[in-house]
Amino acid sequence: MKIALIAHDKKKADMIKLATKYRDVLAKHTLYATGTTGKLIMQETGLDIHCMKSGPLGGDQQIGSMLADDKLDLVIFLRDPLTAQPHEPDVSALLRLCDVQGIPLATNVKSAEIMLYAVNNDTFRKFHESV
Ligand code: PGA
Repeated sequence: MKIALIAHDKKKADMIKLATKYRDVLAKHTLYATGTTGKLIMQETGLDIHCMKSGPLGGDQQIGSMLADDKLDLVIFLRDPLTAQPHEPDVSALLRLCDVQGIPLATNVKSAEIMLYAVNNDTFRKFHESV
C-alpha cells in the first residue's frame, strides 16, 4: 500500500510516536510524507520515506496531486486544529481530494491507530471495494 504521512508542527511529536509504535507495520508499505515530517520520521525510526517539499512550500499540493492521480491508499494527516496555518488552502484541498477520491484519511492519532491496525491485520483491504 501507499501511505502518506503529514503532521503540522505541533503534531510532529505525536507523529513520531505513532511511526515508532507502528514502525514494523509501516515498513512493509511505500511511504510518502511532506518534507519536514518525512525527515523527522526517517531520523527517528530509520523508515524509508519519499519526501515531498515542506507542506507550506507545496508539499501538501504534491500529496494532493498523488491523490488526484489515485496513487495513494491511505493518508494520515495529524492536523493542528488550534493553530492557523499559512497554507490553509493547500490543507483544505488535500483533505477535499481524499473525499473526492474516497481515500481513507486519519486526522488524529486514535483514528490513525485504528487504520494502521486494520492495515496490519489486512482488514483494511476488505473495505477497499466495499459499499
Ligand atoms: P511539513 O509540512 O511536514 O513540511 O512540516 C506539513 C504541513 O504543514 O503541511
